Amino acid sequence: MTEKISTEAEIDLSYIDENYKYIKDRIAQAAVKSGRTPADVRFMAVTKTVPPFIINRAIACGADLIGENKVQELLGKLDDLRTDGLEMHLIGHLQSNKVRKIITTVKMIQSVDSLSLAQEISKRAAENGLVMDVLTEVNIGCEWSKTGFEYDELIEQSLAVDSLPGVNVRGVMAIPPVCETEDEARGYFEKTRRLFEDAKQLFAKPDFDTLSMGMSSDYAAAVLEGSTLVRVGSALFGSRRY
Ligand SMILES: *Cc1c(COP(=O)(O)O)cnc(C)c1O
Repeated sequence: MTEKISTEAEIDLSYIDENYKYIKDRIAQAAVKSGRTPADVRFMAVTKTVPPFIINRAIACGADLIGENKVQELLGKLDDLRTDGLEMHLIGHLQSNKVRKIITTVKMIQSVDSLSLAQEISKRAAENGLVMDVLTEVNIGCEWSKTGFEYDELIEQSLAVDSLPGVNVRGVMAIPPVCETEDEARGYFEKTRRLFEDAKQLFAKPDFDTLSMGMSSDYAAAVLEGSTLVRVGSALFGSRRY
């Protein structure tokens, strides 16, 4: 007997449709509960380790924003992705020597965690005649293992980043420490939102409008605390196999 190998067309992906709808609804409910409208919160599908044919299913459901962590992985998927009308962001730690490769592919780099990285982005953007939207990442839990600016330095550093000609700071991104309870997570989200509000006052420009926080386990809590963009991977695609 020969073993049957299932093809992409035979794999049942209806769970993606269900997950997509469920997450969308929960985001909408949390947005309304926080005094906003569903349109005020963007739903990013985080696609690391997910193959293009599965990502395309999420796109067919309505996903219009994806986030990848690695430059190489994103570039490797591009040919097989339905990229029409699709916005792509880089959300993982970015090495300066890879900036050149993705500068014309992504709409935003959410993971700016040093001034030197921002300088490289600015330089490459200018070379291509564009201004790159970025978020500055805050190390909200003061974890030594995580990248990002220190809480107390974030605003000053963000202003320095924004003064570079090839970058436009659009807001703040945070990945809180792994939390035992939703209350604990909410504490970090609230702290991040206060930082974002303080920064917004100083920046005083209408497009400083993005607070990126909340992942699979806590996106509803993040929206309740004011997130404008949630980054959801495993709740949409299932657990990752590396
Ligand atoms: C992987 C990842 C996510 C999504 O994580 P899930 O828990 O699977 O939703 C969000 N943000 C960043 C920066 C990530 O690396």
